[in-house]
Amino acid sequence: IFLLGNPYQKAWFKCYSSFSNMMRAVCVDVPGGPENLLLRHIPRPQPKNGEVLIKVHATALNRADLLQRRGLYPPPPGESDIIGLEVAGTVESLGPAVKGGWKPDDRVMALLCGGGYAEYVAVPEEVLMPVPPKLTLCQAAAIPETWLTAFQLLVFIAQMKEGEVVLIHAGASGVGTAAVQLVRLFGAVPIVTAGSQEKLKLAEELGAAAGFNYKEKSFAQGVHDFTGGKGANIILDCIGGGNWEQNVSCLAMDGRWVLYGVMGGKTVQGDLLGRLLSKRGHLLSSLLRSRSLQYKSELVTAFSHRVLPYFSDKATSLRPVIDSMFSLEDVARAHQHMEANKNMGKIIVNVIP
Ligand code: NAP
Repeated sequence: IFLLGNPYQKAWFKCYSSFSNMMRAVCVDVPGGPENLLLRHIPRPQPKNGEVLIKVHATALNRADLLQRRGLYPPPPGESDIIGLEVAGTVESLGPAVKGGWKPDDRVMALLCGGGYAEYVAVPEEVLMPVPPKLTLCQAAAIPETWLTAFQLLVFIAQMKEGEVVLIHAGASGVGTAAVQLVRLFGAVPIVTAGSQEKLKLAEELGAAAGFNYKEKSFAQGVHDFTGGKGANIILDCIGGGNWEQNVSCLAMDGRWVLYGVMGGKTVQGDLLGRLLSKRGHLLSSLLRSRSLQYKSELVTAFSHRVLPYFSDKATSLRPVIDSMFSLEDVARAHQHMEANKNMGKIIVNVIP
């Protein structure tokens, strides 16, 4: 990243931001590759009514960040155009009319519409959660976007029930590693696809009952064999396009196929509708970022009650899976790492080393 050629520049840069109302943030002036991520000094956000200002300790990467950097996924109107959908840190100050009892120095994590790649971010208190006691702030930064997404898809959208078989594509991804653990927590049976043995092994360590390397053989056949021909009750699908035929073929009767990403393409050719109908299948889809504050508030509340305590529970031991850590100066390398599909779990960016 530019401006940071030598240690004196770096020290000056940090010192300047800590004694002024400025902060370091990663900006994108021109959409493009990772080299277009620029570390800058910009004004700190001020917390408005009902908002809390967080001093960011760490943020984490999401696939959406790569799209936003390339100009393909703009923030919702009125939101920060700084990339970054989740952070963990400490409460710096409170805006007017904050009611939740938050106080300075509380350890918090938050789901964002944007603004995470920065030293400070102001968030509505509704999307704030306490950091579970046993987790570090770097671990906590891996939770909000991916765990809330997985929870939303399984509980709010698919209405998963105990004993159901849930096929999770990209089982070693950020969302996948959270989904496997949540399916187990709620008494259902997770099975996964992934592109390498190493990734399948990680998913199995997290609780997957079976895993299929989609690069080597048909995952639909694997699901048929595992379920004795019944198929998966739920499919969490972030791949889309190219997988449709296998998805519909291994969906159980009355199954729910939940589309939440299109990494494998957006177009479909063939008799999808006829085959879905023959299974009485439900094709559902969801996005989290564009949801209303009211919806996110209900999601955060439900997640805080039903899942957060289990990060501190020895018996269940939920864990955010950390692939690697990068400094804010090195965020371009972090993007390259994700773009190459190399990560297993979350890539963390340490904002305050
Ligand atoms: P991630 O950790 O970067 O993992 C993505 C993995 O997907 C890759 O490592 C790769 O693993 C697999 N993959 C990539 N392209 C593929 C392809 N064409 N076919 C099959 N597998 C492919 O990703 P993440 O941040 O968890 O995000 C996962 C997905 O969830 C993304 O599509 C993202 O947009 C979506 N998402 C949606 C929402 C929502 O609200 N709808 C919210 C958050 C995330 P393998 O080596 O195993 O192939």
